[in-house]
Formats: sequence, structure tokens, C-alpha cells
Amino acid sequence: MILHIDRFQNMMRQIYFHRDARRGAQDTYLWLVEEVEELGEAIRGENKKALENEFADVLAWLASLANVVDVKLEKAALGKYNEKCPKCKQRSCECPNQ
Ligand SMILES: [Zn+2]
Repeated sequence: MILHIDRFQNMMRQIYFHRDARRGAQDTYLWLVEEVEELGEAIRGENKKALENEFADVLAWLASLANVVDVKLEKAALGKYNEKCPKCKQRSCECPNQ
């Protein structure tokens, strides 16, 4: 199964939007931040499954937040990162110091 970003975001909308909308953008953002912190802890550990779970949670909360503020993740991502670096315009980034 290929999971397109747009499809994943719609799936998150179907499962969680009634709760996400009630919580609102600011609190949903705080959940995303907490999940990013948990991802930061997981990359210091050695548990691959736990690491995968944290990536999934970050992606899920990012999609939830995008739903609450009515942003299409796939459109936003491809609008900025479409096969090349948005800064140096190269297919393999040549920006200094990144
Ligand atoms: Zn670049």
C-alpha cells in the first residue's frame, strides 16, 4: 500500500477531526511539540519500533494540526519542495552550512 500524504491527512481527518477541531489549533500544536520531543528521546534510544511509533505520532499530529488550520500538507509540501531545494534550486542541495 502506497500512502500518499493527502490520503493520510484525510484519514486523520476522518478519525480525529471532531476532536481536533474542538481542541483547536494552539492545543493541537502543543501536542505536536510534545510528540516531537518524544521523537527526540527515541532517537537517543535503541528501540527501532519505539522510534517508528514516534515518527508515526509526529506525522499524525502534524496532519491533525494541518486539518484544524485547513492546510493541505501535500499541496504545501510539493509547493515548496518539488524535486529541488527551494533555496539553491538544485536537485541535490548545495546550500552552505546546512
Ligand atoms: Zn539548497
